[in-house]
Amino acid sequence: MRRLVILSVLLQAVFGTEIFVGHQVLRISAADEAQVQKVKELESLEHLQLDFWRDPVRPGLPIDVRVPFPSVQSVKVFLESHDISYEIMIEDVQSLLDEEQKQMSAFRARALTTDTFNYATYHTLDEIYEFIDQLVTENQHLVSKIQIGNTYEGRPIYVLKFSTGGTDRPAAWIDTGIHSREWVTQASGVWFAKKITTDYEKDPTLKAILEKMDIFLEIVTNPDGFVYTHKTNRMWRKTRSRTQGSLCVGADPNRNWDAGFGLTGASSNPCSDTYHGKSANSEVEVKAIVDFVKTHGKIKAFISIHSYSQLLLYPYGYKSDAVPNKEELDNLAKSAVTALTSLYGTKYKYGSIIDTIYQASGNTIDWTYSQGIKYSFTFELRDTGLRGFLLPASQIIPTAEETWLALLTIIDHASKNLY
Ligand SMILES: [Zn+2]
Repeated sequence: MRRLVILSVLLQAVFGTEIFVGHQVLRISAADEAQVQKVKELESLEHLQLDFWRDPVRPGLPIDVRVPFPSVQSVKVFLESHDISYEIMIEDVQSLLDEEQKQMSAFRARALTTDTFNYATYHTLDEIYEFIDQLVTENQHLVSKIQIGNTYEGRPIYVLKFSTGGTDRPAAWIDTGIHSREWVTQASGVWFAKKITTDYEKDPTLKAILEKMDIFLEIVTNPDGFVYTHKTNRMWRKTRSRTQGSLCVGADPNRNWDAGFGLTGASSNPCSDTYHGKSANSEVEVKAIVDFVKTHGKIKAFISIHSYSQLLLYPYGYKSDAVPNKEELDNLAKSAVTALTSLYGTKYKYGSIIDTIYQASGNTIDWTYSQGIKYSFTFELRDTGLRGFLLPASQIIPTAEETWLALLTIIDHASKNLY
């Protein structure tokens, strides 16, 4: 292993790519509150460089953490000495990344049309942007591309608009990839885009929706982060903005919204993966959506898609109060999950963010809800931790297919209950 680590350091120096040889992902099961506190202690030890994929919250909820090779022994000793049980979910992160790269290069071929595009592999930003242009060219009667802004590093931010006509129509919004390492989400976004163009005349539900509403879809919501996951660090979650006075880069774009901004459930430390940014909307990628939603003024359903954990969530995340239409959202979530599960049996939990996972302030859908968008939801797609963010490409299409059924359920309900 040591030789491998030296080799990986060399590779890193040559290619500038972060290597994860010997990194393990552990699933920790905290049996009681005291053990949860112990794991939080572990989380605060910065020198261990731990990357929590699922945070310690309360007993009974799994905690997943990527442990760099040099910390593996001490973390295991710590857990064992406190009688905290754990299992190894991923033995060696790098071998999964190698597999992912091998799969990508085997299937990397430039598609000339969106019919020959390979939906069952992961793609780079350039490939996805090319796909977007092809889709627009092929479906000019239905699809257009809107640039809603530029990223911190200057890349264009695109949203696809699906519209069968009319003016001033109400709309539904879907975004994927706001956390860049959640690759199955951007890949699903690509699939949804194609699905809308192939189904809009033949699927009666979708047809009825598009007779009343437009659909907006932002596939790569954090383009800088996404490029960074391809070129430098596959595990990158945040934006790539610089914070004055800190060497650490990026803010968590799902803690940067103007709803309970900076309260518990976000970090003020720029080095943290949940750093909320210097102020609400400080991240231009967030601000672009805020401006778009406000200017549009008629977004009636807003769905922001993450992975992983298999959850369908509604507000609030920053406070424990129930939203006024909680019962309606809960019933709708139940129907959406039932539709999702009907395809492949994938099990989902649903509920409010704060009850189901944890307190998260400054998150997307608390803000959209505060803007009067009463159908605001967030998904956590597959899986439940076996592969986590490194979901095999073979699961992209099934994940997208089942999720689509839930999306249709939500948007259909919104279109029948316009307000
Ligand atoms: Zn996420």
